[in-house]
Amino acid sequence: MADHDGYRILEGWGRTPRSRALVRPVATADAVVDALRSPGPRPRLPRGLGRSYGDAALAAGGLVLDTTRLDGPIELEHATGVVRVDAGTSLARLGREVLRHGWFLPVTPGTKHVTVAGAIAADVHGKNHHRDGSIGQWLRRLWLATTAGVIELTPDDAALWATVGGMGLTGVIVRAEIQLIPVETRFVVDREVATRSLEETLEVLQEDATVRYAVAWIDATATGRHLGRGLVSFADHAPRDLLPATLARDPLELPNERVVPTPPDIVPTGVLSRATIRAFNTLWYERGRRRPASALVDLRTYFYPLDRVAGWNRLYGPRGFIQYQVVVPEAATHVLRSVLTSLAEGGHPSFLSVLKRFGAPSRGIMSFPRPWWTLALDLPARRPGLEALLARLDHEVLDNGGRIYLAKDGRLRPRVFRAMYPEHEEFQRERARLGALGLLASDLSRRLELD
Ligand SMILES: Cc1cc2nc3c(=O)[nH]c(=O)nc-3n(C[C@H](O)[C@H](O)[C@H](O)COP(=O)(O)OP(=O)(O)OC[C@H]3O[C@@H](n4cnc5c(N)ncnc54)[C@H](O)[C@@H]3O)c2cc1C
Repeated sequence: MADHDGYRILEGWGRTPRSRALVRPVATADAVVDALRSPGPRPRLPRGLGRSYGDAALAAGGLVLDTTRLDGPIELEHATGVVRVDAGTSLARLGREVLRHGWFLPVTPGTKHVTVAGAIAADVHGKNHHRDGSIGQWLRRLWLATTAGVIELTPDDAALWATVGGMGLTGVIVRAEIQLIPVETRFVVDREVATRSLEETLEVLQEDATVRYAVAWIDATATGRHLGRGLVSFADHAPRDLLPATLARDPLELPNERVVPTPPDIVPTGVLSRATIRAFNTLWYERGRRRPASALVDLRTYFYPLDRVAGWNRLYGPRGFIQYQVVVPEAATHVLRSVLTSLAEGGHPSFLSVLKRFGAPSRGIMSFPRPWWTLALDLPARRPGLEALLARLDHEVLDNGGRIYLAKDGRLRPRVFRAMYPEHEEFQRERARLGALGLLASDLSRRLELD
């Protein structure tokens, strides 16, 4: 809700941290340029659908440009699958519209409620990173609003690679041209393998390097010899001839989605206590073990299971939650073990935990993905001892050649960040060239001393 002066309290998806800013909706590229040039509070920062977990889309005291109204008609070249789309268009709308014509998003995060620009600004990865890279790899062109006007960028421009993964700090993306992938149906064929330990999970995840989608759900409450047990999923888009006759009639049209609401905040700690988190993880693992090994799964169920519960982030209560996502090199599996053990034994069980293998690094200067293992854990925030524990784990990740994902972060310290992202100096030079230094900033960039 807005204050009388137009200021609003904004939060990330994890609901912590929060800050107050003047929010202005922008519906055209010209309006974005005007807003960047206008007098008024600083810094300026673009915001999409607010699905970054921490403070990447917050700018305390500044002017936040709400870009979700930049969502005009989608232009699809039917023969090639090249699409031109406004930056505030959600992946939900883009995915649905192009699917009808036999195309799908080349890379998609675990929710469809993100904007095209938010996805580019974070250089998002999906379950296919080991094979297809991150979204930046599929970009053909980008239109970026700066105080000098709108500039058109191609993959030959360094400014494009500063913007991909640049967390809104180089300019405001207003439009993008993306290469899609062809699909025949709205289904994937999913094969699931239950594992009994971290070693087995890592081994199984590497079994099939050619399959398009590979990801492991981990029971992060299991300890001892069961630490790291989980369900590994391998999937690819289902060809039409695999569908039963009832589904093959209209294979590309998504049915209406049924979404369940989340109850409002009732208890300050939310409904996800240690006991419910443990019970959910055990139940999910046991159910998964009994499911048939292979199944035909609807795209939305496969890619976006959490979207079925509207506002599920409120399950953690007003104290919010943190997503801790790290990537470490191939040999550093002991860091994964250490993260899982420290959190489980420290009384910080993760509700939802995902392990994936990344492929080659993106060309984005500040992009997160690089080889090899990435682990993401959802943890109830503001629990005694959690901050100190995560700070210790940050160092362990860093000392072993790893880094933290900025789109999920709300707590990294500047010195650790600089060592994890030595590319920040090159990034700052590109920002200076684009006239973004001193103009665009977020609570994240200020916390990390990227000003
Ligand atoms: C349930 C869930 C699952 C997720 N799964 C994944 C996953 O599998 N892989 C993954 O990589 N990420 C994942 N994410 C993170 C999410 O994809 C990113 O945080 C993404 O940036 C969110 O997009 P948004 O539109 O909500 O942007 P916001 O959160 O509003 O903003 C994110 C960043 O983008 C910048 N930005 C927004 N609009 C523009 C613009 N027009 N121009 C320039 N910069 C802009 C902002 O300044 C900010 O720095 C997940 C998030 C959730 C909630």
